[in-house]
Amino acid sequence: MPSRPRVNSNRRQNSFGSRTDIGCVREHNEDSLIVAPPLYAVADGMGGHAAGEVASEIAVRTLADMGLTSADTMDLANAVIEANHAVITAARKKGRAGMGTTLTAAVIEGERLAIAQVGDSRAYLLHQGVMQQLTRDHSLMADMIEAGQITEEEARVHPKRSVITRALGSDPGMQPDLYELNVAAGDRLLLCSDGLSTMLEDDQIENILIRTRDPQRAASILVNEAIAAGGHDNITVIVLDIEGNAERETRKTVRKSRWGAVLVALLVAAVVAAIGYGAYTYTQSTAYLTAENGKVVIYQGVPDSVLGIELSHLNRVTDVSTSQLQPGIAKRLEEGIIRVDSLEAAEALVEEYQEEIAEEAKSDSSASADSSASGNASGSAGTSGSGNSANAAGPSATDSTANASGGTT
Ligand code: MN
Repeated sequence: MPSRPRVNSNRRQNSFGSRTDIGCVREHNEDSLIVAPPLYAVADGMGGHAAGEVASEIAVRTLADMGLTSADTMDLANAVIEANHAVITAARKKGRAGMGTTLTAAVIEGERLAIAQVGDSRAYLLHQGVMQQLTRDHSLMADMIEAGQITEEEARVHPKRSVITRALGSDPGMQPDLYELNVAAGDRLLLCSDGLSTMLEDDQIENILIRTRDPQRAASILVNEAIAAGGHDNITVIVLDIEGNAERETRKTVRKSRWGAVLVALLVAAVVAAIGYGAYTYTQSTAYLTAENGKVVIYQGVPDSVLGIELSHLNRVTDVSTSQLQPGIAKRLEEGIIRVDSLEAAEALVEEYQEEIAEEAKSDSSASADSSASGNASGSAGTSGSGNSANAAGPSATDSTANASGGTT
């Protein structure tokens, strides 16, 4: 294993947000994600009896252990091949044939972006208000759409929509697709599992990325919307804001970044402690949101009763009206519930709704003054064609010859 190199100090720290959620239907969350700058990756595992969780976890952890430091597609490809072998070995040892995972991984170095792609998780780039899918799915649906056999709309509801044609964990000769791009400061990268892209249309995703400034909030809203749309699968997103190349760098800031490293270590310890605490409180109290008389309400417990005894009780009626919410979320609350891990999570979600409503109100009032403004973001982007640096170099090599592992994620 290579010695772990220090973080490149002549780059600005990109800000990011991430979230993963089990969704509304599945028993396990088989998705995994890793944020280990400059590496960012999502993986969507498959295989029964929790094997998918193991596969996706091994894939992202192996990738992170390779200690990638530059946006070099060859290094990234080798790391993904390493991760493939790790999943195959684990499947063999544990007698879990059929265990596999997708992997969409990005390494960002200043304004260089390297991406490796296996399966049907995706990378999208938002550039000057326009979102573009960077990766090509390795899925039966993508093949059929390209062959002109079905339309995108038909693919969305096709019974075989989750069959993938390439994955980690089966073929030792598996090769990832590789993409190498120039991106610009201000661009936003989205990595997601198919639990997002099958529940939301691209323009819904684009809208959320455009109007939500904070990347963590954008990640949360994307997941909330996918849940509101039904949450049929696990949902995982990483939103990364590209900061670009640093113009000046002094010795002083390098030194500061060492203190930064200490701070990060402390934060990591705090997060680990928080996760432990979270696991404890989950068993103590879960909660859910629903709507009553047009208001969002919070219940503590589970929406069930045993021998006539209710297992939940009303915690409080919030001041959020469902009419102020995005239609998808409002519908979900009115017709059912949104489960969360704790009362705190319920309050956080309500707070998020309140912020969203406030932001919406703000953008509504600024939109009316927009015609006199200089036409930022979405307005001018479409015509600037050649200015768009986000052209993927395209899939590398062996495509249709890929192992048809036929897994579903
Ligand atoms: Mn999935």
